[in-house]
Amino acid sequence: MPGGGRGGGGGLRVLSAVERDGVEPALLDVVEYRKSGLSLNSVIGCPLDCGYCVRHVFGNFGMKVPRAVVGPREAVAALTGHRFFRPHVTPVQLMNRATDPMLPVVKPHVFEVLQRLDEQELTNHVLLITRWRVGEEDCARLNALRHLKVTLLVTHSGIEDERIEPVDSDIAARSLEVAYRCAERYRVILYWRPIVPGLNDSDRHLARALELSGSAHATVFTGLFFRDQIRDYYRDHGLPEPYEQSARRKIFPEQLEQRILTAAAGNEGSPLFRKTSCAVTYAHGVADYNGHYGIRELCDICPAAQVARCADGWVVPDARRVETMARELGGRLVAVTERAVVVEGLDEQRRYLMQHTLGFQIHDVAKPHHPHRHGRADLGWPAPVEVS
Ligand code: SF4
Repeated sequence: MPGGGRGGGGGLRVLSAVERDGVEPALLDVVEYRKSGLSLNSVIGCPLDCGYCVRHVFGNFGMKVPRAVVGPREAVAALTGHRFFRPHVTPVQLMNRATDPMLPVVKPHVFEVLQRLDEQELTNHVLLITRWRVGEEDCARLNALRHLKVTLLVTHSGIEDERIEPVDSDIAARSLEVAYRCAERYRVILYWRPIVPGLNDSDRHLARALELSGSAHATVFTGLFFRDQIRDYYRDHGLPEPYEQSARRKIFPEQLEQRILTAAAGNEGSPLFRKTSCAVTYAHGVADYNGHYGIRELCDICPAAQVARCADGWVVPDARRVETMARELGGRLVAVTERAVVVEGLDEQRRYLMQHTLGFQIHDVAKPHHPHRHGRADLGWPAPVEVS
């Protein structure tokens, strides 16, 4: 394996030249900046077949056998050499776009990447999202990392329609239990998603998820990305479409949120969060790196100690500094408000670089955020009042 080095590939083959030709170019670019951080996707392909998988968007859903785009050593070099990577600052996600990091054939690659990052004494957040099996030996390897702030997010939806989610939800439940019981240096999040009205939002589903939340340091609840390509897949396979329209952002109706919060009142499990980074940072006892504290209504369900941490870490940035940053990145500052910096002409990657550097929300003037909407799609919410 090119750059593999330690035999960490464990049966994982690198894409052949012919296979590369059939892959969307975006997937060959192994580092991408997303909201939860720089995302390293050096392995693509997954056999798990979740109907709502984001791989539909990349035309990669048909690739069932994971393949490495590059080996672990090259992957780490691509990540830490990325122009937007900042040691100890930039949050990192591993293999969240096109495979599951805990698949047996993918795991050795992932652990080698983690080890190589840790050897550099980097203290960045690293997020791993899985719905597959996590065993005690995996936990031991995560506990052995000395510097990285690792968070394992275990996805559980409770969806029973096998056409939409063929993977048994009990697998995630067991992984959660093992990971939480063994956690010493890393943290465990119940990633309760996607919650879809009529599919997995019955009182029974809610009770089960809340029970599972007791096996996690924190719980995130969220909706469904229902992009055009995913809607097309549902149509082509005769699956019940959860919404009449597709949307750029995640869909999460207001009434469903209310039902969940009511059901969670008095629950003995871990605290619920609307945003992934809020749960991650709570679990590690640090302030939110996405600056969600500026969107005050997000924090009404957050434990008081965490609100205090975020309040301490949150500073409205100096307008001249932000103006310079925006200009150097090729855009323009529009406004600095108590909620967010508003910019023009900067793509997502540049906005996230600013957001994680400043710990403050950076919004695009062309994509207004609505109050009390928490960055979600408009579907299922009253007509918006626009603010920046
Ligand atoms: S205080 Fe607000 S921003 Fe901070 S973790 Fe809680 S919800 Fe998120």
